[in-house]
Amino acid sequence: MTTTQQPTIMDGTAVARAVVGRAAERAAEFALQTGRKPCLAAVIVGQDPASLTYVTMKQNRCRSTGIDSRVVALPAHTSTAELVAALHQLSSDTTVDGILLQHPVPPTVDERAAFEAIAPEKDVDGVTMHSFAAMALGTGGPVACTPGGIIRLLDAYRIDPAGRHAVVIGRSPILGKPVGMLLLSRNATVTYCHSHTRHLSDIVQDADIVVAAVGRPNFVRGAWIKSGAVVIDAGYNPGNVGDVAFDEARSIASHITPVPGGVGPMTIAVLLEQTVEAATNRADDR
Ligand code: NAP
Repeated sequence: MTTTQQPTIMDGTAVARAVVGRAAERAAEFALQTGRKPCLAAVIVGQDPASLTYVTMKQNRCRSTGIDSRVVALPAHTSTAELVAALHQLSSDTTVDGILLQHPVPPTVDERAAFEAIAPEKDVDGVTMHSFAAMALGTGGPVACTPGGIIRLLDAYRIDPAGRHAVVIGRSPILGKPVGMLLLSRNATVTYCHSHTRHLSDIVQDADIVVAAVGRPNFVRGAWIKSGAVVIDAGYNPGNVGDVAFDEARSIASHITPVPGGVGPMTIAVLLEQTVEAATNRADDR
């Protein structure tokens, strides 16, 4: 494809609405069959305003999807052992189907130890080592929500990663690494870039699919993008600004996600979908 002035703007809000609509139908079926709604427990440690907003937003979205939502709010001085105990308790609570530990936790807490206290079958946010290994091995089960949302968005626009060069900028455990693994499992040729990468713009120039997951506003410039590439902006910076210079990249890309309204809505849609899936699986196992 040659340079176009009219790329397809990938409408994450619309795709997410469809995903959530199906999740709501399945949640209603689950409630009919079991006499209770699927239940997501969100654990938040401390009073970080952004985290509080995210948790409230997720609670509201649960309610409107027919999912019960429980919030466990712990003080900022919670120790790792106390948080692990709270997560173990939720893991063994038969009325809870999914568990979400709101990231980030205070620096005094060992976040990895806390994540590992979540029972794998309730890991609807895809943060445990079990889920990470399953994503790497392609064995199924819950995936990290933002990476899962990105794959769903590609699917919705019938973009098959097979054989394409996907360049992922960022290698965090919740976003960059897993999205690369999911793209690999879809037979893309994957290159990871990070803060030590040399000649980043040259590598991005060769990408058929670019995933920006850096956390720096307008970091990826339009001049880096290959004509006709698919540009996925997972970044979300203060002021609703993505990691891609959208106005520069839009005239070069074939498909591009906006910020907001691209990857963001897909993340919560996948969380809700995986909560319903976890509830259904647990009911089937009984
Ligand atoms: P993170 O943990 O801070 O990771 C950022 C990554 O970017 C790291 O791997 C880092 O490399 C890399 N990086 C930093 N500077 C770089 C540079 N100059 N060149 C190349 N790579 C560089 O962030 P994150 O949690 O993955 O989040 C990334 C972005 O996605 C943020 O804007 C966040 O808000 C957004 N996000 C959005 C959603 C959503 O639902 N839409 C969900 C999660 C995150 P090193 O590993 O070498 O340090």
